[in-house]
Amino acid sequence: MLDGVSDMPARRVMRNELHLASVIFANSNEAIMITDAEARILSINSAFTQVSGYTLDEIYGKNPKLLASGIHDAGFYQDMWESLIATGSWSGEIWDKHKSGHLYPKWMKIIALKGEDDLITHFISFATDISARKEAEQNIEHLAYYDVLTGLPNRTLLHDRIKQHVAAAHRDKQRFALMFIDLDRFKYVNDSMGHAVGDQLLQAVATRLQENVREGDTVSRIGGDEFVILLRETDTDGAAHVAQSLLDMLHQPYEIDGMRIPIHASIGISIYPDNGLDIGTLIKHADVAMYRAKEDGRNSFRFFTTEMDSRINQLFSMEKDLRLALERNEFHLCFQPQMDIASGRLCGAEVLIRWNHPEKGAISPAEFIPVAEETGLIIAIGDWVLHTTCKKIAAWRRQGMLPLPIAINLSLRQLLQPDFAQQVATVLEKYDVPPNELELEVTESIMLNDAQVALNFLDKMRDLGVRLSIDDFGTGYSSLSYLKKMPIHKLKIDKSFVSDIQTDPNDEAIVRSIIALGHQFKLSVIAEGIERQEQMDYLKTLGCDEMQGYFYARPLTEEDFVRFACDANRTADAKCIR
Ligand code: C2E
Ligand code: CA
Ligand code: CA
Repeated sequence: MLDGVSDMPARRVMRNELHLASVIFANSNEAIMITDAEARILSINSAFTQVSGYTLDEIYGKNPKLLASGIHDAGFYQDMWESLIATGSWSGEIWDKHKSGHLYPKWMKIIALKGEDDLITHFISFATDISARKEAEQNIEHLAYYDVLTGLPNRTLLHDRIKQHVAAAHRDKQRFALMFIDLDRFKYVNDSMGHAVGDQLLQAVATRLQENVREGDTVSRIGGDEFVILLRETDTDGAAHVAQSLLDMLHQPYEIDGMRIPIHASIGISIYPDNGLDIGTLIKHADVAMYRAKEDGRNSFRFFTTEMDSRINQLFSMEKDLRLALERNEFHLCFQPQMDIASGRLCGAEVLIRWNHPEKGAISPAEFIPVAEETGLIIAIGDWVLHTTCKKIAAWRRQGMLPLPIAINLSLRQLLQPDFAQQVATVLEKYDVPPNELELEVTESIMLNDAQVALNFLDKMRDLGVRLSIDDFGTGYSSLSYLKKMPIHKLKIDKSFVSDIQTDPNDEAIVRSIIALGHQFKLSVIAEGIERQEQMDYLKTLGCDEMQGYFYARPLTEEDFVRFACDANRTADAKCIR
């Protein structure tokens, strides 16, 4: 049996096929153009008009060159034609010019149509506009390489650029510098004025940095308030010059939302190849130098030196030793008695941690606590101090010792833990310690970080009945408005004011006003670091309530402290009763 198609006369078949082709041509989403063998435009479909802007009337008989964008050189078109003639087709990405003048990318395939004599009769091109896809690709690339907030290159792009610079500088025997910039107290601005202001400030800083380096230098933002600049072809003198002018320019106040915000920066610099041959080392060393700049008083810059590196190594080895110390139980506690000046009675004690290193002997907390804070180990160490102190308070209660508030030192990191208030409550309950026998010493700096978190914690402690004091008062970032909000019981005058109290009128004035201020807020005031009778007498005349220092007692071991407490009570009781 014959099928339907072969049954039809040949002419009808052809007509049908032509009809089919013309419907496809007209309705295709691809832009189609047909030219003759001399590349004169014969026909286009409506998709073509949509993509190019031209109607057939406007371009009939013309050469497709009129679509050229000017982006590609003559070689590009020559290759295209050669491939077309040789293989019969060409495909690739090409930029064209729209009738309205803008350029757009398209993906195009051209085929050369040949007649029976094998000569080319027509060219047919099929194309799709790929602007949207290109844009999406670019956006993705931008996200991967640029910081969204400031538009600056991010860490990834910075690494790429450094890698290129290392190769080029190695080849050409040249130096370049990496500058690590950290804004001083940015977190304070962010927390106190809000993140929107913080964001605008970062954008303003980014703009200033970019405007003040040479073209070809890379300014990048690698995190929060940290920027890294890559200065090409420079040496120590050049980098120092740039660093100083950046500092001068950065600290001009910023006008944001009608406020004038001053901000300073600290800068650390490492130089290739002197301070490192690879990205990791160069960035680390610039970072180390930046920390030194901060320590040395902020708003300054420092070059990396090998001496800084050995300090970093010391820190690493101390961190390792601290971890071991926790495991091996190398810490113990000392207790320094506190005296009520008016009655001469023992009125409390401060817990001070001690570390006996198996090889190095006693290491001062002034040395290891900052390392523990920086590494986060302070959380575990502080936890140990809290538990051990409460255990001891409970044991003393069982032995019948008179109750005294015992104070421990808290670090900021500890109270930033979201559940720290709960942790304290749990420990008190576990050892059955009345909350008012535990006192927590915090410094004013806790308010600098996230004041609301700190206040929440202090409020919870007050509600629980735990006592609170402010340590080293007067040395930090005191703010009366904070003091008013903090639910505290006691101010501790820092020992630096006490040592020269009788000879330095400034110190005397400070102590006098701290006492007045404390009493104004109905707080009790204790002076630390009293070493001589005269100092105590003087503080007494100034109205100071309590004192702590070598004069009354040094930090004592547990046994010595228990003996001291019993003796003190006996004599005081004797005084009181008879
Ligand atoms: P701080 O809290 O200001 O402690 C007072 C420091 O002054 C103690 O030093 C104490 O031994 C010393 N001191 C007491 N009386 C006198 C005196 O009359 N003259 C002199 N010159 N010094 C006196 P220490 O024990 O070396 O502690 C240093 C710092 O280490 C403490 O300063 C505190 O900030 C920190 N610290 C100590 N124990 C802990 C702890 O358990 N946790 C935390 N987070 N920090 C601690
Ligand atoms: Ca203290
Ligand atoms: Ca203190």
